[in-house]
Amino acid sequence: MFKKKHSGNVVIAGMGQGGLVAASYLALNGYKVDVFEKAKKGEVSYPWYDDITFNIFEKVGIPAPPRECYTQKSKWLFVSPDEKNSLAVPPMPSMVEVSVSRRGLAQHLCDLAEGAGCTLHYGEAVEELLLSGDTVVGVKTSKKKYNADLVIDASGLHSKLRRQVPKKFGIQAEPAHDDLMSGYRAFYKRRPGSATPDPESTLYVMHKDGPGISWCNLNDRDEVDMLCLRIGGMTKDEYSELAAALKANHDMVSDEAIMPPRPVDVGVRYTMSRLVADGYAAVGDSAFMTMPFMGSGIEASMQAGRMLAETVVNGGRDRFTAKNLWNYQVTFFRKLGALYMAIDIVKRYVLFLDPKTVNWVFGCGAVTSEDMKLLSTDENNKASISLFQIIKKVGILLSRPKLIAGLLGAVIRAALGLFMAMRLPKKYNEKEIAEWQREYEKCIKHVK
Ligand SMILES: Cc1cc2nc3c(=O)[nH]c(=O)nc-3n(C[C@H](O)[C@H](O)[C@H](O)COP(=O)(O)OP(=O)(O)OC[C@H]3O[C@@H](n4cnc5c(N)ncnc54)[C@H](O)[C@@H]3O)c2cc1C
Repeated sequence: MFKKKHSGNVVIAGMGQGGLVAASYLALNGYKVDVFEKAKKGEVSYPWYDDITFNIFEKVGIPAPPRECYTQKSKWLFVSPDEKNSLAVPPMPSMVEVSVSRRGLAQHLCDLAEGAGCTLHYGEAVEELLLSGDTVVGVKTSKKKYNADLVIDASGLHSKLRRQVPKKFGIQAEPAHDDLMSGYRAFYKRRPGSATPDPESTLYVMHKDGPGISWCNLNDRDEVDMLCLRIGGMTKDEYSELAAALKANHDMVSDEAIMPPRPVDVGVRYTMSRLVADGYAAVGDSAFMTMPFMGSGIEASMQAGRMLAETVVNGGRDRFTAKNLWNYQVTFFRKLGALYMAIDIVKRYVLFLDPKTVNWVFGCGAVTSEDMKLLSTDENNKASISLFQIIKKVGILLSRPKLIAGLLGAVIRAALGLFMAMRLPKKYNEKEIAEWQREYEKCIKHVK
């Protein structure tokens, strides 16, 4: 916890995880914090469970949610596009990774924020940023106007506020079409008497040869969780075909829906090149802070909330200017943003490989179940690969010279992307930052 006492009004738009973590720290340090959420109390976040690494609470210095909010993460099997080969992800030690109730987590973070002295406004959407010249000085909500020294945008992937920040800061208004995976998630009752699958969760890579994933999981509440996502989205008919294919493979899916198919978007892209403006900072999905391969962003968002709060608290007298908030961006990029750029470059290569090539990779022995740990949500639990194993893998892949050339190209581009992301100016200088933004954005080749 921080020790100094400060003053200033902070408005947080959205009860996203990052905003709520920042809210607690700022309130504990003397700031007046108002948090606005468009959803009603009890309806904040998704009505399902998602995976996180449990030590995230310790990492950001907050108590873990009550025990009834989380369960052991299930075991996963990854299936090739032709469904002929599969790789099992080795289980982590118990409770290292958990499935957390999204609404339970939101409620827990809201309780902490309220306990720290924040005022929480439910059912009140933030509609507009209020500006004085090029400085953000408050918000207009669905009910009234509020002045603020700092507005924190924690309103998620489809933030309306991003596009209202004065252009001179170069904040990207909208994600590109290939920055998201879109589709549907649905929950069904388990068919009575159906066998319990082992592992419980199956993830189809490039399901039916499309650029995306589908999964079908039995959770420990006896619900079947079905998710289908594709880069660039899918029509309802395309979803129906994918869902029917999942049902055909998994006897446990009954026809009784607990939650009918609900449209979902998941950010799977590099972090936004500019996180701060005068009087404004973005955290979490509103700044595209998900891990690009899997779209997991809860942990990054919470960490960013903490980094932002520390920057504000440790800032100088005019601590809400872009200049003073800049250290937040530098810290985030050093810890996570640069790595996410490298991952995004590799992901764009892998997701648009020919499905036949992916089938071969699954079956050739170059990728093992142990390597699947690399897809873990936490960087501390990654697999380690010995030099001997690398030589063996390269040996196998060499039988496909085109593949190895493409992979090598992607790895080199990823290393250059990481290097470029790490080169963001440490000191605030508008001209240098604008130049860096241009170079950083150039690392990504969007799919036409
Ligand atoms: C299907 C699916 C599965 C996922 N699985 C995982 C997973 O397993 N692990 C993981 O780490 N991540 C997962 N994610 C990603 C994760 O949900 C996000 O990365 C994370 O929630 C981002 O947090 P955030 O702090 O940006 O806030 P968000 O969770 O995006 O919350 C934003 C909040 O702002 C509110 N809001 C929006 N606009 C306004 C407004 N104008 N005024 C007021 N309030 C507003 C919204 O109602 C919402 O409560 C998944 C996402 C989806 C869709």
